[in-house]
Amino acid sequence: METMNILGTGSAMVTKCYNTCFTLSDGREHFLVDTGGGNTVLANLEKLKIDISQVRHVFISHSHNDHMTGIVWIIRAVAQAIIDGRYDGTLTIYCHKDNIEAIKTISGLLLENKFNRYLGDRIKFHEVSDRGRVSILNWSLEFFDIRSTKLLQFGFCAKLENGKKVTFLGDEPYKEELFEFADNADYLLHEAFCLYSEKDIFRPYEKNHATVRDACENAERLKAKTIIMYHTEDKNIADRKRLYTEEGRMFFRGNILVPDDLDVINL
Ligand SMILES: [Zn+2]
Repeated sequence: METMNILGTGSAMVTKCYNTCFTLSDGREHFLVDTGGGNTVLANLEKLKIDISQVRHVFISHSHNDHMTGIVWIIRAVAQAIIDGRYDGTLTIYCHKDNIEAIKTISGLLLENKFNRYLGDRIKFHEVSDRGRVSILNWSLEFFDIRSTKLLQFGFCAKLENGKKVTFLGDEPYKEELFEFADNADYLLHEAFCLYSEKDIFRPYEKNHATVRDACENAERLKAKTIIMYHTEDKNIADRKRLYTEEGRMFFRGNILVPDDLDVINL
């Protein structure tokens, strides 16, 4: 059974949920997508009963704090599992070139050598490039540059074993240059910072973010079957699912998912 396991759903400065990150799983192993900003990545993996030995592939979309900093904890947990003889094979970290250096630097500063010594050995880096293809957990994945004007960022399009197309657009809105990757997706993973009706409160456009309405209009145009929205503000968290779904429904006829942290979605 292929699943999406939600570790976090918030934007950078949330305090009522964790930063956006998740795994895609084939039922045995997990492909971790971003790591959030801290140690909660380990707590939420544990709550979802995902053992670190089941995580052998990690993708870091970009170097912002709310996506990358958790990698230090993943490296530490994997290294500890290697030391304890509980980890088979290697961890591969997929990210672009500058982020390989950034991760080496922060790990070098923050972790003891007994953990860092596995970098480049049992913990490897795979440099991603625009249209670079890889195979992860028997799925074929194509990375793409999301064309951010802020900071180089990558997304990916995955073809699952069940034939479904999953497109991850990172934490910025869909752009037309990405059409071929996002068109007809079974699952369009799109950020939605806040409701359109609350855009004057949260000011998403100043931060290069979209509203629920924008995300759902994109999903409609792209003929997505399901949109999964994440990277939100957290002031509405108690009612987020209902409020976001109601607004999205006015602009998208497909299936709308607004997950909470620790939700598991069958793909
Ligand atoms: Zn972010």
